[in-house]
Amino acid sequence: MNILVINCGSSSLKYQLINSDTEAVLAKGLCERIGAEGSVLNHTPAGGDKVVIESPMPNHTQAIQLVIDALTNDAHGVVKSLDEIDAVGHRIVHGGEKFASSVIINEEVLAAIEECNDLAPLHNPANLIGINACKEIMPNVPMVAVFDTAFHQTMPEKAYLYGLPYKYYENYKLRRYGFHGTSHDFVSARAAEILGKKREDCKIIVCHLGNGASISAVDHGKCVDTSMGLTPLEGLIMGTRSGDMDPAIIEFLANKEGLNITEITKILNKESGVYGLSGGISSDFRDLSAAMDEGNALAKATLETYAYRVAKYIGSYVAAMNGVDIIAFTAGIGENDVRVRSMIGQYFNYLGCSINPEKNDVHGKETIISNEGDKVTVMVVPTNEELAIARETVRLV
Ligand code: AMP
Repeated sequence: MNILVINCGSSSLKYQLINSDTEAVLAKGLCERIGAEGSVLNHTPAGGDKVVIESPMPNHTQAIQLVIDALTNDAHGVVKSLDEIDAVGHRIVHGGEKFASSVIINEEVLAAIEECNDLAPLHNPANLIGINACKEIMPNVPMVAVFDTAFHQTMPEKAYLYGLPYKYYENYKLRRYGFHGTSHDFVSARAAEILGKKREDCKIIVCHLGNGASISAVDHGKCVDTSMGLTPLEGLIMGTRSGDMDPAIIEFLANKEGLNITEITKILNKESGVYGLSGGISSDFRDLSAAMDEGNALAKATLETYAYRVAKYIGSYVAAMNGVDIIAFTAGIGENDVRVRSMIGQYFNYLGCSINPEKNDVHGKETIISNEGDKVTVMVVPTNEELAIARETVRLV
């Protein structure tokens, strides 16, 4: 089967066409500036060069039409017609408490996703627009919704409740949900598989360290805790997001800087994290590492603060699971940043493991980076959220 995987944002749309039999990516691409001037589609067929298609995209329906045109184009297409697309898998950010697994999309599901809009006002409405655009262009192709939150729905109450008046949970479902679930699911399963073990027999900590970053504790196959909360702002220090902080900071900053809540929330999401902490050097860890090499003390402090937060979360999840067998690093930083992995590994001695410097010199490749005989296996396991979505789509259709 050929599965079109769609990740739709408010002004962008990422896609991959995956052959589910071979799990090969036939083509992938990105529509940018949908609904604005200068919209552009970057389309890359497997084994071919990137094609840049500049064309007006007044809305997402037009963007999907251009994607289909690119996929079926005589020169740079990879299928003959729309008939060769068997199903569509949509990445949906928030499934609230309604969705603990992926589902086939129907009218009822659409309404239920819409009910979760309040919980992810920046993402869910855009995801829905993507679904509706596909429905318009491909009315007879089955579609599946795969939720970022679903894998974390097994968290127990003690992990998802906040220390807030209970009525807010009752009235608004205000609780911790967690995100990147598709990645945590994929990587924890793959980590166990690489070691020839069953995930159901292991205690696994997955460190998804990308521009957005989160950690999860996967105990005998089930997620029991994760670092993101009601929104993806909680938890680790990220590229531009603050992660955990004293909530009283909001009032403090409002008074000192004369800012309102919306302005402060924007600072916490877009101007904080390693970007803000480093005084604006960059949100990209390659730039921060280069600055540290040049002797920039703030870049060094930023990376140390980042690694320390990750190490503290790992420690808390060891406590939550009363042990750990596997620690897996994934996503842009987790897969590639040798230095940051090694800085985090400095805190692993109490676990009876350490990161081996030679084995750790690896980028984006499945590798065991702890020493043979260590009590805990530390690994790099590249994530593949699109493939996970394609597999879920095939399973359901
Ligand atoms: P992601 O959100 O998973 O795509 O991760 C993106 C982030 O990964 C970038 O912002 C970089 O900070 C980081 N990254 C990507 N490649 C490297 C690399 N070779 N070394 C260090 N960090 C990297």
